[in-house]
Amino acid sequence: MEIRSVRGMNDLFGEELYQWTQVENRIKQIFGSFGYSEIRTPVLEKTEVFSGTVGNETDIVEKQMYQVITDSETYVLRPEGTASFMRSILENKLHTSGQPSRFFYYLPMFRHERPQKGRLRQFHQFGAELINDSSPEADAELITVLDQIYKSFEITEYRVRINSVGCNQCRGDYKETLKNFFRPKLQQLCEQCQKRFERSAMRILDCKRENCRETTKTAPLITSCLCADCKAHHERVKSCLIQAQVKFEEDPYIVRGLDYYTRTAFEFTSELLGAQDALGGGGRYDGLSARFGEAPFPAVGFGLGMERLMIVLKEKQNLPQFNFAPSFFFAPIGEKAFEILYPLSLRLKRQGIWCDISYDKTKGLKWFLKQANRVNANYSLMMGDEELKNGIALLKDMKQGSQEEIPMASLENELLRRVHREP
Ligand code: AMP
Repeated sequence: MEIRSVRGMNDLFGEELYQWTQVENRIKQIFGSFGYSEIRTPVLEKTEVFSGTVGNETDIVEKQMYQVITDSETYVLRPEGTASFMRSILENKLHTSGQPSRFFYYLPMFRHERPQKGRLRQFHQFGAELINDSSPEADAELITVLDQIYKSFEITEYRVRINSVGCNQCRGDYKETLKNFFRPKLQQLCEQCQKRFERSAMRILDCKRENCRETTKTAPLITSCLCADCKAHHERVKSCLIQAQVKFEEDPYIVRGLDYYTRTAFEFTSELLGAQDALGGGGRYDGLSARFGEAPFPAVGFGLGMERLMIVLKEKQNLPQFNFAPSFFFAPIGEKAFEILYPLSLRLKRQGIWCDISYDKTKGLKWFLKQANRVNANYSLMMGDEELKNGIALLKDMKQGSQEEIPMASLENELLRRVHREP
């Protein structure tokens, strides 16, 4: 077949999708126990949801957004969660109570990046956002939730790096100091960093290229430029994390790629991932609502990549067990047996018991047993002319290999009894 899926966009099915769903459910449970309720926003958004808010010089806005062009409008496929979330919060006035409110989302994101291991063009992110709370405890809570998610899957091979990128005031001063440092060294920076220099010098610190890393090694650090309030906030975030028993390290080079962050920025990385080692990350974005032309209110959040979590779980051989098999496989040999087993199979299904039945009435016992094995059924139930004559059915325990005769009159009860005994 010539028609294939779009590069960097995968199909999910069978065992793999089953495992994804188990993992997703566990994460949703964790969000539930921390008081986060779900929010879903559309896949398509107007371009300006991201262009003026995430930052025009960011990779996402500059070159990674997919556009959908209709006769009269251009839209984009959502490349990240926080700006769509903010658009929705403002539009639905979910912030106006002034009370702290917690939300999570689980949505596909679209970025036109070069696909590689752990980097797709359609990928899935869980995100959490806590609005109307400016306290450092709120920042620590988000980091703790993300940490709890990985802990709950028994993942230990990750590092939590935190930093403060300051507020508008102290960051402004820092940017100037940084520019003064880089100005005589511009030639040593990559082309992209040279472009970044004028408008987003802090992002140079985030560059992964060897030359840029070497140059930034001696750059002044934000830590030395934080104002008293930002410093106190940062110190309190750290002490909360210690209380919460979240292991972290300080990394003044964590600036996060997007323009809207203020104060706390954090990243979780894992050596099990290879080159694309970011598991998740986030930070405070008190300034984002103002970028939508609204009054500012505090907010903090994170995004977690599902594909990368699944890579780590696979690497650790810690993926959930595939457990999708019928309790019973019915093998009616001939029309008459089918007339009895078909309604019985429906009655069981309606009671929530998966009971597979073949609609092919021409097959014999051997074929049925093969099918029962193939679908991994716990029991197979066989009925042919001989059994009909004797008023019984043959129930085979596929795991034990044992077989017993069950009287037709008590068949349904006997089957139910067995299911309720199953673990
Ligand atoms: P970001 O919004 O870039 O901070 O990404 C948040 C998380 O989403 C990252 O830490 C990754 O786990 C994941 N992620 C980001 N980009 C991709 C991608 N192209 N493919 C798969 N996962 C991604």
